[in-house]
Amino acid sequence: TAKAEGRGRWAVHDPGRDEAETERFTLAAALPAAVARDEFFVLYQPLVSLADHRVRGVEALVRWQHPRLGVLSPSLFIGPAEETGIIVELGRRVLEHACRDARAWQDEFGDAAPFVSVNVAQRQLVEPALVSEIADLLDRTGLRPDRLQIELTERELTADEGAPLKALDGLRAMGVRIAVDDFGTGYSNLSYLRKLPVDVIKLDGSFGEGLREEELSDPVDEVIVGTLVALGHALGLTVTAEGVETGPQATRLRALGCDEGQGWLFAPALPAADIARMVRRGAPLGDPAATPGGGLL
Ligand code: C2E
Ligand code: MG
Ligand code: MG
Ligand code: MG
Repeated sequence: TAKAEGRGRWAVHDPGRDEAETERFTLAAALPAAVARDEFFVLYQPLVSLADHRVRGVEALVRWQHPRLGVLSPSLFIGPAEETGIIVELGRRVLEHACRDARAWQDEFGDAAPFVSVNVAQRQLVEPALVSEIADLLDRTGLRPDRLQIELTERELTADEGAPLKALDGLRAMGVRIAVDDFGTGYSNLSYLRKLPVDVIKLDGSFGEGLREEELSDPVDEVIVGTLVALGHALGLTVTAEGVETGPQATRLRALGCDEGQGWLFAPALPAADIARMVRRGAPLGDPAATPGGGLL
């Protein structure tokens, strides 16, 4: 019963957990009005080629400019936004911002313009209108379809086969690329990858953690990364490494075959104007001798 559950909760009273739950609840309740007031903005984190450390693309990462609490991380509100369904409207706005900014880069840099990679939640993927909305968005903004990439987590892709796969086929038919995000953290059965209409796998940052120190490369992490790279390449996919924080790690990931990297070594998530400045300057990011995220602009 509710009463028994309540008593149980108090019996193992954990003020930190209660506070976190209250906060989560409050944020979830505040989301619809915040979306209506447009309190969200988008930052872009560079994705670099590990061969030359130059910007190939960027990932769009949403932030909530909360009137009282300041800038909030998506880890605090994406979960609640998915649970309440408001992610559909929020995600629509993120896509709109991302395509507009990427169109400006396309105008300035042409073929050298960075592509934009946008996270899409399962809840959005099962909306029947998603594919036509994206087609319309590309049309309105004038962004080339091959300048847009959609990121979905492994879990989202494998949860329900029907609707999501149909949407992915529709997007790919337009020329939009599909990436599997946080790859390696979901299902252990990797053969499903063969059936998925995807172009890129993004290896979760946790696998690269053991490769950060120059002297002490973790042999198990080396084997895991090497194996996932071999699998990706056998399927003709581009392999991106997330969470690249140090020079030695970038060197190891490159030696293990990763094509692209993303992480604080190269740059944190930045405003669109900073990305344009970075591409204009054209210098490689992430000097192996530099401190993480330092001296980039
Ligand atoms: P993600 O898609 O895996 O994005 C990468 C996250 O890793 C970002 O966190 C990024 O800031 C962080 N990161 C980047 N470089 C490093 C590094 O070197 N080391 C470490 N430890 N972390 C690094 P962020 O921006 O807080 O986003 C968290 C998650 O929220 C994202 O994970 C994504 O799943 C979700 N998210 C963000 N924006 C959106 C959105 O517009 N829509 C949806 N559905 N989800 C989003
Ligand atoms: Mg992502
Ligand atoms: Mg990721
Ligand atoms: Mg991740």
